Amino acid sequence: MAPAPSLPNAYHRPTSSRGRGARGGSLVLYVFGPVFSRRLGVSLGVNNVPYKLCTYSCVYCQLGHTLRFTLERRRLSEPERILAEVAERLEKAGNVDYVTFVPDGEPLLDTALGDAVRLLRRELGVRVAVLTNGSLLWLPDARESILEADYVSVKVDAGDEETWRRVDRPHPGLGYTRVMEGLRVFAHDYTGVLATETMLVSGLNDDRRALEAVAEAVAGLGPRVAYVAAPVRPPAEPWARPPPPERLQAALEALRSRGVRAEPLAAPEPPPPPMGVDPVAYVAETIKVHPLRISYLERIAAAHGTTLQELLKAVQERLPGAKLVEFMGNKFLAYRPEPRKRNQH
Ligand code: SF4
Repeated sequence: MAPAPSLPNAYHRPTSSRGRGARGGSLVLYVFGPVFSRRLGVSLGVNNVPYKLCTYSCVYCQLGHTLRFTLERRRLSEPERILAEVAERLEKAGNVDYVTFVPDGEPLLDTALGDAVRLLRRELGVRVAVLTNGSLLWLPDARESILEADYVSVKVDAGDEETWRRVDRPHPGLGYTRVMEGLRVFAHDYTGVLATETMLVSGLNDDRRALEAVAEAVAGLGPRVAYVAAPVRPPAEPWARPPPPERLQAALEALRSRGVRAEPLAAPEPPPPPMGVDPVAYVAETIKVHPLRISYLERIAAAHGTTLQELLKAVQERLPGAKLVEFMGNKFLAYRPEPRKRNQH
């Protein structure tokens, strides 16, 4: 049997003051990928928030449950170190379309985000994207921190408070009206590419009334493009299922009838890790942000001359909490740490 892939020294760098506990495991890198997304093409991911700090606990979240809600923004990352890691990874991976802040939590909880965005654009000349749930954009500092990003995607899952609470399960200190007002002010001020993302969950926000209401809310923001998605990877709640295709189509039509450019959002697997990037670290970093299909891991293992079992073993040693999960007949490797570990953040 071929030996398990080994980790290059780059992945053993000492931790910062943020420390291993703060990152929720032995992986302390900010940067992962490249990953592929329909929206952004090839992008290098930046995970600037510890697992799993969020203002929402969406029923469909592919990161599992939010066990620590917070609205408190504080410094969670080190922009200089993010810059160094991005530069290093770009050397190996070549050009990418975007460097994307897509953490395993809500990126705007990090008050260092704005500095990191500015630093990356200024020093590396890269385009920067931020994928946020948008729930903190009623705070002027939060809005200001991402005004310079080239692309911002915000979440709009509901057109009314009750549906929003059912789907996104927000922090009790948040209110729908305030969140939507923050989104509207940001949309007005922002000059980059603004996208929205609406996740439809069967039985929660896919009836005619809910679709019309969310389409109205999205149209009010005037996004460049509005994406409509459905859960395709293991969600926090196993009962969170995608709606039938005709409901997705109805959502797209409700948006288009309001003059919004609306598109379905597929979730393809990322490209295989580029040469020079260790496959174990690559898989461990990526599943902290989204689960990967086992069939995809088989391809990675074969490409690196090892077996699926050896790759899984090496990833689970590197990232305790990596678990096999089944969803809609497909097997995935997902990051599902025990609650005790999650609460270290
Ligand atoms: S989907 Fe995003 S906003 Fe919702 S709980 Fe997960 S990380 Fe938070």
